[in-house]
Amino acid sequence: MKKINFYDVKPYDKEFFDMANLKYQYQIIYHEEKLNPHTALFAKGSDAVCAFVNDNIDKDTIEVLHGEGVGLIAMRCAGYNNVDFKAAHEKIHVVRVPAYSPYAVAEHAIGLLMTLNRKLHKAYNRTREFNFSLNGLTGFDLHGKTVGVIGTGKIGRCFIDICKGFGMNVIAYDPYPIKDSDIVYVEVEELFRRSNVISLHCPLTKDNHHLINKAAIEKMMDGVVIINTSRGALIDSEALLEELLSEKVGAAGLDVYEEESDIFYVDNSNIIIQDDVLRRLLSLPNVLLTSHQAFLTKEALANIADTTLGNISAFFENSALENEVCYQCSGSPGECKHVETGRCFK
Ligand code: NAD
Repeated sequence: MKKINFYDVKPYDKEFFDMANLKYQYQIIYHEEKLNPHTALFAKGSDAVCAFVNDNIDKDTIEVLHGEGVGLIAMRCAGYNNVDFKAAHEKIHVVRVPAYSPYAVAEHAIGLLMTLNRKLHKAYNRTREFNFSLNGLTGFDLHGKTVGVIGTGKIGRCFIDICKGFGMNVIAYDPYPIKDSDIVYVEVEELFRRSNVISLHCPLTKDNHHLINKAAIEKMMDGVVIINTSRGALIDSEALLEELLSEKVGAAGLDVYEEESDIFYVDNSNIIIQDDVLRRLLSLPNVLLTSHQAFLTKEALANIADTTLGNISAFFENSALENEVCYQCSGSPGECKHVETGRCFK
């Protein structure tokens, strides 16, 4: 029986993977620990490992996994900025789940926007204490406002559709615009200047680290609302904090945070968090932070489990790896052998 070690597992992962595994009957070993060069040793005797967004899949981790005979890293997520693809190339195949529910993430982004704008988080606390005052809860109509969408892939497009339903004017920036679409593309600087709301839906790459920094925010409208459900390091958190304090930024809805890896997904309520930027962000009434949960719907979890075990099964059967990624196909389209052979390398 094929053995797979899973890392950074939570009870909801187990529930959906156990269900999907009824079809495959693999031997799954669940670990709460994150994958790193030390925990990679757990994978001894294992055929594949399954990892998540905050696992440390650097050169050292890959070398240990390779040494233990692991041939596949199955990411149970879409993003893969935590994988050292150059180190993995020709050693370990890396597959991912490119789409599981773009609706889940887009709807969460809208949830952050709606909550911040209409101050539902404050209203919830007030009415529970029988405080029925409306002072300080004034929002603005989304209808007629301009939303700037950065990244018009699967999630960005769902987000755009919802915003259009609200009667918002949508403008977008994407270095690879969709041809023949009705999306109004503008340069990123123009998007910064014209948008009342900016929502990030692009991957984190080496080129767009701190895309939203002090200089970018200074170009934005006063009171701009920034929503990030993509990756934390797209935003310079210190600059964001400064611009929230100066009231240049009106509100920030963050499902991701650049230093989230040791903090998110666990109950830290009994320890003193040392990250001062995070503590100060969380102290502000116009910041709403969720713990990288935008994907967390039943539909998305079921799709993640089905696609991940499907990817693993294709690997074991020596079939084409439809959802494989490597540094060549993700970085420089055309250089990778995937299209011809179905695998990024043999
Ligand atoms: P996708 O691949 O379908 O689309 C990404 C789009 O971003 C593409 O159109 C691409 O051309 C564009 N892009 C690439 N570089 C860009 C840049 N520098 N500036 C602007 N656009 C750029 O991906 P998706 O499924 O829509 O997911 C988008 C991102 O959402 C993922 O990369 C991931 O980081 C994040 N995500 C977060 C969660 C969560 O739970 N919070 C869940 C899934 C995905």
